[in-house]
Amino acid sequence: QGTIVVQARVAALGEEYILILADDRTEITRTEEIRNDFVANVSHELKTPVGAISLLAEALDDAASDEVAVRRFAQRMHKESGRLSALVQDIIELSRLQGTDVVRRGKPVDVNAVIAEAVDRNKLPAESKQIDIVVGGKIESPVYGDPDLLMTAFRNLIDNAIRYSPEGTRVGVGLRSRDGLAQISVTDQGLGITPEEQERIFERFYRIDAARSRQTGGTGLGLSIVKHVVSNHGGEVTVWSQQGQGSTFTVRLPEMETADDDAGPAAASG
Ligand code: ADP
Repeated sequence: QGTIVVQARVAALGEEYILILADDRTEITRTEEIRNDFVANVSHELKTPVGAISLLAEALDDAASDEVAVRRFAQRMHKESGRLSALVQDIIELSRLQGTDVVRRGKPVDVNAVIAEAVDRNKLPAESKQIDIVVGGKIESPVYGDPDLLMTAFRNLIDNAIRYSPEGTRVGVGLRSRDGLAQISVTDQGLGITPEEQERIFERFYRIDAARSRQTGGTGLGLSIVKHVVSNHGGEVTVWSQQGQGSTFTVRLPEMETADDDAGPAAASG
């Protein structure tokens, strides 16, 4: 809305150079707003577990002789500090991602291996909910990028698929190469996401149900990390979902050209 006002005034003046200045300023204001929002959100999110830990410490002090209460408070402190550390880790990851050109420092990455490890690292939470993770298909060519960041992205998607699904369901990870793109989709039989929510879930700290997200150890940053990693690799992430039936998150990443697809150096430049 700010943009419309500024541009209307500039149009009345009819000065093109002012338009450029005004646009720049609008851009700066918007960036500043986003940053201020982020800082406000981060402070709020950090304050919640820190406040809880502090209250629990007090309660622990008061309950010194009640063994059952002590154990209960200690367990809750442990849970809150786990949340705090997940949050700090995600915030660091996100700010790291914003400042760096990942692909420039990248290398050829075997996505199949990255997926295998991402699945492996989600084994315990999956087992605890009797969820089967089934991987099918194969990515034919390497992707150029950072294997650790790609791992973080896929781990987040699989982690969400498990957290937002009921026990005893199945999570599918489908891999295929198509039109020079590595296509990785993570499908669950979980809660599903309405079309309105689908528009917002990639925003930082956006959660459909904050209580549920926190309860399951979510930070509200997972999908925005996924989005950043994927776009830093020149790819895209999309979601398809039907409420109550499940969701599919699909990542598409450009594959590197292998010797077979390339007739020689001249072919690559056309
Ligand atoms: P969180 O840490 O809360 O999971 P994310 O950024 O990873 O944060 O996801 C944002 C929100 O999107 C979640 O809080 C949840 O409401 C919704 N969401 C993400 N993945 C799924 C999924 N596979 N099924 C249903 N809802 C999901």
